[in-house]
Amino acid sequence: MSDHDSVPGTPGFTTSILHSDRGAPIEHGALHKPLHLSVAYGYRDVDELAAVFQNRKQGYAYGRQGNPTTAALEAKVTAMEGGVGTVCFTSGMAAIAAVLLALTREGDHVLSSHYVFGNTNSLLGTLAERGADVGFADATSVDAVRAALTPRTRIVFVETIANPRTQVADLERIGALCRERGILYVVDNTMTSPWLFQPRTVGAGLVVNALTKYIGGHGNALGGAVTDTGLFDWPAYPNIAPNYRSQKPAQQGLVQLRKKGLRDFGATLSAESAHHLAMGAETLALRMDRQCANALALARALDVHPKVAAVHYPGLTSHAEHARARSLFRHYGALFSFELAAGVDTSAVLNRLQFVALSSNLGDNRTLAIPVAQTIFYEMGAARRAEMGIAESLVRVSVGIEDERDLVADFAQALAG
Ligand SMILES: *Cc1c(COP(=O)(O)O)cnc(C)c1O
Repeated sequence: MSDHDSVPGTPGFTTSILHSDRGAPIEHGALHKPLHLSVAYGYRDVDELAAVFQNRKQGYAYGRQGNPTTAALEAKVTAMEGGVGTVCFTSGMAAIAAVLLALTREGDHVLSSHYVFGNTNSLLGTLAERGADVGFADATSVDAVRAALTPRTRIVFVETIANPRTQVADLERIGALCRERGILYVVDNTMTSPWLFQPRTVGAGLVVNALTKYIGGHGNALGGAVTDTGLFDWPAYPNIAPNYRSQKPAQQGLVQLRKKGLRDFGATLSAESAHHLAMGAETLALRMDRQCANALALARALDVHPKVAAVHYPGLTSHAEHARARSLFRHYGALFSFELAAGVDTSAVLNRLQFVALSSNLGDNRTLAIPVAQTIFYEMGAARRAEMGIAESLVRVSVGIEDERDLVADFAQALAG
């Protein structure tokens, strides 16, 4: 499943997801991994019990650190990202919080893109209030990122396509910079998903996916994942605790993340949610192909509409990072945002939409729209919104799998009003 489905002789992206549970025999020949609801596990003897607790033997210690249903989902995400291992969490935010808390120490500097998900921005602020050294830079330019590094920078955090203004980070050059400086490069791949892009290809050490969004796809389960690409030199990372230094080099980061990030904080994905998300993952490629095609058609239609002042979508040739998006991603994503012309009442237009639901989620099969400044980016205030390039009239649209003509017609009638 690596390199965007292009390795000859290996099963493709969707084939691999569909059949991955059959790698180990399942009771009664079931084609789905069953839901394992047991919190506790039994062992043959004390030796086996101790070996599982010390990570010398594959097994389950306690439900808070994972269960077999979630492990099956983790294996799917690892394969989709072409990585070496994955730890799942109860939400995308739990995954991001675990990375930042389990892999940093006092005195470390964390550098984040200016253009990140609103709650990620809020989390970074919370950490800063507790004394963490957090900085921001315009990640569309490697020069801005380089200028913001300090000798204590341990983590650089970026999103692929930023939500909601769709800036595309200078992913490749930032990856090279992090490799050169030995900095852990963490890429939130939620907006592209592993079907459009694998951050491993630009040198990411860890990849975050909010499974809630495209991978789950149906808006019926929260979940998050952190995948180790196998590229980062964990033995050289100063923050691996002595206890985990005895692990194989490639596993040290994920073992610390599972222990300190999952076990100690307890944001464990339930087996039921893991099952929903694994079902969704089976159709990721099919859904995203259609969603991205719909998004391009809709963005083009709005772009030439007289009542629309601006459309932000990497698929438009007018987008500042259009060429970068074309060279890095399979498609341009399924999310865009737009600003209405002066004097047009944004609320009135949105209230006239019929198929499009007013909702804060994204990545659902249904098309969802939301006015940004009044809702998801309300709390941060006007000054920070301006810094992030978010106009007060900005509307974000997460495009679903409806029939293209229905979506185009819905926006046309809402704008005609
Ligand atoms: C939604 C989202 C998250 C957080 O995911 P949750 O599962 O909602 O906690 C993180 N990053 C990005 C880019 C997102 O869109």
